[in-house]
Amino acid sequence: MPTALVISPHADDAAAFCGATLAKRAAQGWKIVLVRVTDDSKDSVGLSEEETRRRITAELHQAASILGIDEIVELGYETDRLFAVSELELRERFVYLIRKYRPYAVFSFDPDGWEENNQDHKRVAEAMDEALWVAAFDKHYPEHFKEGYQPYCVVERWFFGRKLPNPNRAEDISEFLEKKIDALCAHQTQMKHLLHQYQMQLAAWGRRVPWVDVSYEGDHKEIVAVFLQEQANAVAREFGLGEGRMGELFRYVRFGDLEELFQMMSEPLQSAESLPEAQPQPQPTLSAAEQEDYLRHILASNLHQRLRLMGHHHLCAGAFEELFQSIPFRLSYQNLVAHLKASPDLEVESIFGYDIFCYQCGYWDNEQGRCSTGWKNKISKDAAVLDYLGIRTGEVRRLEDLQRLLAEKITPEVLYHFCGPGEWKCENYVLGICQRGYAKLRQRFGFE
Ligand SMILES: [Zn+2]
Repeated sequence: MPTALVISPHADDAAAFCGATLAKRAAQGWKIVLVRVTDDSKDSVGLSEEETRRRITAELHQAASILGIDEIVELGYETDRLFAVSELELRERFVYLIRKYRPYAVFSFDPDGWEENNQDHKRVAEAMDEALWVAAFDKHYPEHFKEGYQPYCVVERWFFGRKLPNPNRAEDISEFLEKKIDALCAHQTQMKHLLHQYQMQLAAWGRRVPWVDVSYEGDHKEIVAVFLQEQANAVAREFGLGEGRMGELFRYVRFGDLEELFQMMSEPLQSAESLPEAQPQPQPTLSAAEQEDYLRHILASNLHQRLRLMGHHHLCAGAFEELFQSIPFRLSYQNLVAHLKASPDLEVESIFGYDIFCYQCGYWDNEQGRCSTGWKNKISKDAAVLDYLGIRTGEVRRLEDLQRLLAEKITPEVLYHFCGPGEWKCENYVLGICQRGYAKLRQRFGFE
C-alpha cells in the first residue's frame, strides 16, 4: 500500500489543512507518516514552555490516532524561529525523510500560498518544495546512500495553504469531515490559544463575542465544527462536488504539462505493486450543448451510414485508440470512436482526398484548405496502403470486415513500415498508441 508523508510545521497544521484527506487515505489502507517540524513550545496561554510541549505532543498523538496516522517523526526545531534555520538544513532533513519513506504522495504547505504570515509555514513550504526534486539527485547528500537509502521521486504533491493561488483539486471528504473536526478539537491547547488571540484582538477593539468566550472557557467543538463545515461546504460548492458534499482544497501536482502525454504513453512496470489510479486532472470541459454543437459541425451528416476514408487513414481505422492531439480534437474523436465501436455495419468508402479525420486534426490548415504537413508524402502513403490491403478507391466495405482485414494484414512489422520512423512517420506511432490498438484488434479477431 502507498505511503503519504505529511509535513506539519506545527502539531495542528496537518489536521487543520488536510486532516480529512489523510483520514480518507488511511481508511483506504495507506500508511500515513506525519513529520512535525517544530516543538510548539510557545503555543499556549499561561503554561510553562515545558508543560506546553508536553500537552501539545500528547494532543498530537490523540489527533493522529483519530485520523489514522501511523507514525510521527519529530524534528524538534524551536517553534516560531524556523526563519533563522537555513533552508538548506531543513531541505536536507526533508530529502532524508523522502528517501527513507519513499512516499507515493506528499502533503505540504504551498510555497506559492497567499496571505501567509507565519514564517515557519513559509520556510517549510520552500524547503519541502525544493526537497521534492533534490531527493531524486544522486549527487545531493550522498551520506544518505551510505545508510542504504536511494534517490527517490514522489509521484503526487498535494499543496495546501490559507489561500491557494491555483487550487485545482477539491477532495471529497464528506465521510471524513467528522474526523477532521475531532482531530482539530484534540489540539485543545492550540485551539484555546487561537481563541485567546481573538479575544485579545476583540478587546483591543473594545468589544467581545460571547460565543468565543464560551468556547474558550468550555467546549470549543461547536465553533470548530461550524468553521470547518462552512469551509468544506464552500469548497464543495465551488468545485461542484454535489448537493450537501464536503471538500478539502489543494493545489495538486504530478507531471504538470507532461501529465496528459504520460497518461497516454505509460505502461505498467513489471515489478510495480498495484498503485492508486492517477487522480484525474481538471480538464477544460465543454457543456453537453457545446459538445453537440461541435459534433454537428465536425461530423458529416451522413456519418451514420457511411464513413469516407483516405488511404492511410485506413490504418487508423483498425486501431481506434486515443490520439495525441488537441483537446477539442480528442473530444470529438472520442465521440467518433464510441460511435464507430458500436457500428460494425457502418459503410466505409475508400476515397482519394481528405476525409473527416483531416478536418479535426491539429495539422489541418483551415485557410489553405489542406494538411499543413504537405500532402505529397501522404499521396504515396495512401496509395501504398490501399495497394497493400488490396482495396481500390471507391470501394465500400462494412467497418467490421475492414477491421478484420486490417487485423490480419497489419502486423507489427507492416505497421512499422507504414507509420514508424522514416518517410511516412506518424507521431501517434512514436507514442506507442497504435501498437497497443493493433494488439487489441488482432486479439479481437483471433489473429494472436
Ligand atoms: Zn502552523
